[in-house]
Amino acid sequence: MLFLRGCTRLRRVAKKGLVYAMKCPICGCNEDKVLDTRPIDDERSIRRRRECLNCQHRFTSYETVERGTLVVCKRDNTREAFDRDKIMNGIKKACQKRPVSDEQMEDIVAGIEADFKNGHRVEVSTVEIGERIMARLRELDDVAYIRFCSVYREFSEADAFIDELNNLKKMKESRFDAEQK
Ligand SMILES: [Zn+2]
Repeated sequence: MLFLRGCTRLRRVAKKGLVYAMKCPICGCNEDKVLDTRPIDDERSIRRRRECLNCQHRFTSYETVERGTLVVCKRDNTREAFDRDKIMNGIKKACQKRPVSDEQMEDIVAGIEADFKNGHRVEVSTVEIGERIMARLRELDDVAYIRFCSVYREFSEADAFIDELNNLKKMKESRFDAEQK
């Protein structure tokens, strides 16, 4: 199984201490020390807390088992390489001033990428990516979810926006009812 093989490889790399340094997002220094390493998403990705040796800025890196490049098919049928920064920007915009941490946002992107790669997907559509982000945001924050929907689904009219709010409300109520039983 590819999945297991990937994990073993990652573990072996980690055990040997071959941890690559990342560029510090603040000062650009290439040297850091790893403070903490832990697997996420059933060990399909690895999250490391790092500290820059130059400016002591602490940041997080994510490593996903490499299995070729993921191609994203867009609405107009053009294709481009899966770009995690681009996806992250969309999520960040939706989560602006909302109680969603950088780590939670990174988890969304890393989780989606790992899901596709582990499903042996070579090509995914922007629609699929969008739906997955919405599903995860819905669990984290209502406002961020609605904001993301409004951009992603291109709500052109207030009605569509209100429909989505009502759907969300209904969903929450039915979940609340289920919990009361
Ligand atoms: Zn630095």
